[in-house]
Amino acid sequence: MALTENDFSFAPPFGSDGAAIRAIGEDHFRVELGGAPGHPEWRNALQFTILRNARGRRLRLEVVFDYDRDKDQRYNSSFLSFSYDMFNWRPVFWTYGQSTDGWNNPHNLIFPEFREDRVFVGSQAPFVLETLENLLPRWIASPYVRSAELGRSVQGRPIHKLTIADFANLARRPRAHYFKNEHGTEGCARWRMAGIVDWLLSDQAADFRRNQICHLIILSNPDGPANGWLRVNADGLDQNRTFLAEGPDQAKQGVEQHVCQRDVGAVMNSDCPLDTFWSFHTWQGPGEVMVRAGKTLTDWTVLRNILLDLDEHGLFEPMHDFRPKFQMASMWNEGVHDRFGITTFLSEGGTTHFTKDQCTTAGRLLIQALAEYYRRRLPER
Ligand SMILES: [Zn+2]
Repeated sequence: MALTENDFSFAPPFGSDGAAIRAIGEDHFRVELGGAPGHPEWRNALQFTILRNARGRRLRLEVVFDYDRDKDQRYNSSFLSFSYDMFNWRPVFWTYGQSTDGWNNPHNLIFPEFREDRVFVGSQAPFVLETLENLLPRWIASPYVRSAELGRSVQGRPIHKLTIADFANLARRPRAHYFKNEHGTEGCARWRMAGIVDWLLSDQAADFRRNQICHLIILSNPDGPANGWLRVNADGLDQNRTFLAEGPDQAKQGVEQHVCQRDVGAVMNSDCPLDTFWSFHTWQGPGEVMVRAGKTLTDWTVLRNILLDLDEHGLFEPMHDFRPKFQMASMWNEGVHDRFGITTFLSEGGTTHFTKDQCTTAGRLLIQALAEYYRRRLPER
């Protein structure tokens, strides 16, 4: 029995707010994507669930692409993945094809024959709140992990924070690092961070855990991936344009980034202020790490060279200085650098990391490089 429009859901957890679907042939559908809150010109990511009847079907989708509207915020700039269980994912790629609107853009998706009736489809290597809450119990079982709920999103989803260190055997003056993700449908960035957590809890990290404290907010904008919103929260605020140089203010920056900025400020005022702050994102291409050099981690080229040595599969481009065109004080890496003077990083790219294993490997390489940098440097203190 062929799939029908009623077999599709665009509701969370792998949602695409405002999407509409229409059959144009057997197992062949046209999808029109909705616009983001506050930014109707930005298409939401294509995500959906096939609720039933998928087994044995070969789904084809044609997604409406309006060049003038969509050229700056392309819904098709990242791959998608599908899964039967929400946790094991297989990538699927946009293919070219002439559409009825005449544009020869990659806007078609052709899926292999489905093996199960229910199918989840999400952006990149998908990582939503349910993904995090599936991982959390294993992480929290470790004596090195403390977890907290910093607050709730506009739609009431929790914002989880992890703090990782060997608290019982901590050095007298540990260093501290903060890792945070802002944008909703950049799942590869969050799997990269999950790779950091896994390494931090491994035997290899025993020495690092005694000398360093790591703070992580893997999903600061949990409504984003639930609804397919690329950049914004439910109030239409771009989550990486809401750092406030003058200090946290919920009315101006929205609830999600407000609780995060308050927390970063609290860490900076603590006995263990941050050495580094990292903002995690994705764009097209391999992993790309940009540095905003400050008074901490003073020789970032050493870190760059360590990462190059570790990266035997070429997951990353060489680390480089922050590009001036991205110097906006409201971006998290830039804002934290300006406000506190520390060295900050923008971990970008990575849409060529097509599986969560590649993403977690990329994250492991970043934290291993950071650990090696401090292993070489710590005797100076
Ligand atoms: Zn981003």
